[in-house]
Amino acid sequence: MDLFKPLENQEGDQNRKPASKDVEKVRCLIIGSGPAGYTAAIYAARANLSPLLYEGLQPGGQLTTTTDVENYPGYPEGVTGPKMMDDFKKQAERFGTECRFGIVTDVDFTGPTHKVYVDDGKVIEAESVIIATGATAKYLGFESEQKYMGSGVSACATCDGFFYKDKDVAVVGGGDTAAEEALYLSGLCNKVYLIVRKNYLRASKVMQDKVFKTKNIEVLFERNTKELRGEGVVEEAVLIRRKGESDEAEEIIKIDGFFLAIGHSPNSQPFKKYLDTDDVGYVKTMPGTSKTNVPGIFACGDIQDPHYRQAVTAAGSGCQAAIDAERYLGEK
Ligand code: NDP
Repeated sequence: MDLFKPLENQEGDQNRKPASKDVEKVRCLIIGSGPAGYTAAIYAARANLSPLLYEGLQPGGQLTTTTDVENYPGYPEGVTGPKMMDDFKKQAERFGTECRFGIVTDVDFTGPTHKVYVDDGKVIEAESVIIATGATAKYLGFESEQKYMGSGVSACATCDGFFYKDKDVAVVGGGDTAAEEALYLSGLCNKVYLIVRKNYLRASKVMQDKVFKTKNIEVLFERNTKELRGEGVVEEAVLIRRKGESDEAEEIIKIDGFFLAIGHSPNSQPFKKYLDTDDVGYVKTMPGTSKTNVPGIFACGDIQDPHYRQAVTAAGSGCQAAIDAERYLGEK
């Protein structure tokens, strides 16, 4: 889900300049409310930075769309994504973080303080900004995909694969993520179908070799998924083989889990004009830190991490960002 609403999409007076009463000065502004944002808030609050955190369109972030989280240390019995994010938020608030619902529409990182425009009309002038707006998994977009979200449909094999132990699952995509997810699931599941829309994989050669050598992975080239079916949970997928060709045909595969691995979009839109990003839009940080190319602007969590994308790694980088912000403000 996109965390931002561009100014031109808002109703009313477009590009309005806020009245001075709407300007608020803060030492540390955190944008985003997943594990990275809340962890940054816990650390920043405990460092007396009085952080203000804007939650964005999806308070709690991507974890609120998953069911059980079993791989986050400290929850031996597992925990639901929404409950875990609620716990993070309470912990951040306990130390004085102010959490607000609001969507960042634009930023100006050119001045000595950093201006962040929020859809409630406020302009936050922040001495330091921690960006933790995450990334959004791409979905195919058909109706039953939404219907079975959390009941067979997932965009994270590492998070949810364990629930499909010894079962049959499918992964959609032909890139490195899809290959990686299929390989991960092949170690847990009985059978893994890899559904690829073209007649070749885009994944790196080494990953392809691993996929082809794995006995319980079956690559289904030239297949598009039409829909998912099942009584309350996913039981089968309807595929179209060679869509648009004269020999186009419908196929059904019996599966319990359907994993999307067709890429992620980092939620970096409003920041891109000031921050260095890679080709896809992930914010670049200085190695081993959360520092971006603009002093006082820090990035943590999935917005700067195309590789790990785990709650625990996001939380760790949120901690780094708060410490980097604290040191930056101290030196200033
Ligand atoms: P990619 O953009 O590389 O691949 C996306 C895949 O999804 C493509 O095969 C694409 O098909 C397919 N796809 C996209 N949309 C649809 C759709 N609507 N229906 C069916 N299939 C679709 O994304 P990844 O997440 O795989 O990788 C992102 C980056 O991260 C890459 O640079 C990758 O190399 C890197 N990465 C590296 C890893 C590693 O080194 N271990 C692990 C994971 C990622 P098509 O080919 O037809 O366009």
